[in-house]
Amino acid sequence: STPAAIAAGLSAGARRGLLMKGGVVLETLGRITAVAFDKTGTLTRGKPVVTAVVAAGRPARDVLSLAAALETGSSHPLALAILERAKADKAPIPPAFDARAVPGEGVEGRVGGEPVFLGSAQAAARRTTLGAEHLAAIAALNAEGRTVSVVLSRVGVAGFIALRDEARPDARAALADLKAEGIRTVMLTGDNRTTAEAVAASLGIRACAELLPQDKQRIVRELRSEGFKVATVGDGINDAPALAAADIGIAMGGGTDVALETADAAVLHGRVRDVPDMIALSRATMRNIH
Ligand code: ADP
Ligand code: MG
Repeated sequence: STPAAIAAGLSAGARRGLLMKGGVVLETLGRITAVAFDKTGTLTRGKPVVTAVVAAGRPARDVLSLAAALETGSSHPLALAILERAKADKAPIPPAFDARAVPGEGVEGRVGGEPVFLGSAQAAARRTTLGAEHLAAIAALNAEGRTVSVVLSRVGVAGFIALRDEARPDARAALADLKAEGIRTVMLTGDNRTTAEAVAASLGIRACAELLPQDKQRIVRELRSEGFKVATVGDGINDAPALAAADIGIAMGGGTDVALETADAAVLHGRVRDVPDMIALSRATMRNIH
């Protein structure tokens, strides 16, 4: 009978770490025609490493200390990298007050009584004027495929932190599989355009960059209104609106509790390949019924 076949599909998925919250989710997954992927932590490993701490208005050591202070308690992949570097360099980590994530932009709070912001260059440019020398330094790092986080303090631009985040080893092949199945793919990211395009080119996917969480949500809605059945794959708190706007939101393994709650499905092992596998399992299950 139909329910038995679907139950079998759901449990076959669960055994492989492909979790679907019920039969309706499985049925819809079988009809997906477009998949929107978050970049950081989804198509990339989400284990970035700091490659440089660059001084501007403050010495490099202070830049790292201010950044690490704000990132304490953050679960963003970039935060973990910055905290690791601070520990390795034995940089002091002073307490931060009122630290809060600004989704898609960065983090802000007060350190030693001083307001501090850490985040993307676009977000920094909305808070202060970046000089030509700052823009040139950022562009040079972006051209090398680095994500740059800008540290703003009382002095204005305190400095920059450059990070490298490698693509997941199975991402390129998994995206090719989806395309071979006639499924449209797109990468959505809050990261800088140059960096995003470098990653996208290496994976063979189209990139939409410099997006805020609500922009990601808008693009998902646009795809749906063009007639696509859309799955969104994300890992973190910033992806919740885009996951919720999709026909099916898929949380990537190790995601935050928020992403898992918002999601209709989850892949537990952090493999991009799990996405085409879950769609193929759903299609096969539905074929057996009809
Ligand atoms: P993605 O869309 O690639 O997953 P996010 O939306 O999480 O990226 O973040 C977009 C950009 O905002 C990042 O590339 C980074 O520059 C900045 N950013 C966001 N959160 C943080 C953070 N906790 N620490 C440093 N930078 C951050
Ligand atoms: Mg992300």
